[in-house]
Amino acid sequence: MPWYETMTESEILIPVKCPICSQEPLAGFRISVVAEALRTLEIRLYANCHLTSWEASELELAQIRQYMDGESNENPG
Ligand SMILES: [Zn+2]
Repeated sequence: MPWYETMTESEILIPVKCPICSQEPLAGFRISVVAEALRTLEIRLYANCHLTSWEASELELAQIRQYMDGESNENPG
């Protein structure tokens, strides 16, 4: 089981590209929310720099999955 499915209370910081200014600030998401998103392929993203939110595209979901997999290497167990 991936580590993020066992640590559902914590938050993870994910770089999310803002559609307004194209910056990639880190946004905090509950790990349970992200893990669910990777199952359902639906997540509402938001940017910290602007008050905006949007449904993640397939590409963004793939990036989030890659990011989570990368994080897991630094969090054994
Ligand atoms: Zn922005």
